[in-house]
Order: sequence, then C-alpha cells, then structure tokens
Amino acid sequence: MDSIRVHDKNFVPYLTDAEIQEIVKETALRIYEDYKDEVPVFIGVLNGVIMFFSDLLKYYPGECEIAFIQMSSYVGTESTGIVYQKMELTKEVKDRHIILVEDIVDTGNTVESLFKYFKETQRPKSVKLASFLLKPEIYQKDFKLDYIGKEIPNKFVLGYGLDYDELGRNLPNLYQLEDGQINH
Ligand code: 5GP
Ligand code: MG
Ligand code: MG
Repeated sequence: MDSIRVHDKNFVPYLTDAEIQEIVKETALRIYEDYKDEVPVFIGVLNGVIMFFSDLLKYYPGECEIAFIQMSSYVGTESTGIVYQKMELTKEVKDRHIILVEDIVDTGNTVESLFKYFKETQRPKSVKLASFLLKPEIYQKDFKLDYIGKEIPNKFVLGYGLDYDELGRNLPNLYQLEDGQINH
C-alpha cells in the first residue's frame, strides 16, 4: 500500500482491505450471538457507513432488515460539534430491536443525537450501537458502545466509506492523516 494525497493532505496506509474484513466479520458474528432469536433492524447512518454496513450485512448469518438515516457534524477534518439530521429515517421501527450502525465514533455527539432521536420519536423495543471504529481518547459520553470493530488513536482516518471533504470514500483500504500535517 502506498501513501496517497487527497485534496491538500497526505495520508499513510493504516489498515488493509484484508485486515478490515477480519474485523468486520468478527463484529458481525458478535452481534449475531445476541440476536439469534430476533429479526433486528440494522440502521445505517449515512454517508460514512456505506462500506462497513454492506460488509457487516454480508457476514451477518441471521435474518435482519435494514433502514437508513443521515446525520452530519463534520466540516473538513474537524467536528463542528453540531449534529444535523439531513435525511428522514427510511422505515418505521416502533417496537423493533434496532442496531444503529456507524463508521466511527469520535466525540460521541452523533451517537448522543441518534439515541435521543430514536428513544423520543421512534419507540423501538431496544437500541444498540455498532461502530467500525472508536477513538477512545476523544469519546466523552456515557452511552454504552455495544459493538466496536477497532479502537484507534486520535488521528483523522480516510477510506472505506470515510471521507475528507467528500473524497476518499471509495478507497477499499483505510488511511491515516500523515504526522506533522495540521489537523484542520
Ligand atoms: P462524532 O459525532 O462522534 O464526533 O463524530 C461522528 C462522525 O464524524 C462520524 O460518523 C464521521 O462521519 C465523522 N468522523 C469522526 N472522526 C473521523 C475521522 O477520523 N475521519 C473521517 N473521515 N470522519 C470522521
Ligand atoms: Mg458516521
Ligand atoms: Mg465526513
């Protein structure tokens, strides 16, 4: 894997496609252990989750349904702290077991908004969260993060669905912002 340049910044290789697939497979099986006797609804939080969502479903061996919602808080490589809901939920999930699926949990602002939205307006039977990545040094909330693929250091990552100003989502591998580059 080579380093790449996206917009004005350099990114170095961090996880290969093969390493990612192992993480996702293991995460899917952990979820299945808890939902064997249910038909959960996986709710993908767009856009960053696309790759993780699709791979997670491929490795999930049980029955399930899917829906999408769109949230946004990032501009460039920095969180604005304000979370917007950009798209309505695509399915009714009242009285259903739902699993919110995120690409990455950073400050936890998005997760907090999601939990609040679902509990107050959708009345599901249960809500859990699965995220491909977590930056534990930054996470500030008390919400239980049920299924985490991998904990990573506090560096901006790109690829496998995650963008830098909308570029890089289609990269099958994951990259890290190169050291020494200003993080904004
Ligand atoms: P939070 O609300 O937890 O601070 O951030 C959640 C969202 O910010 C993620 O779902 C993701 O879209 C974006 N985000 C957080 N960290 C990164 C990162 O390192 N790289 C990219 N590309 N997006 C990130
Ligand atoms: Mg996200
Ligand atoms: Mg983004």
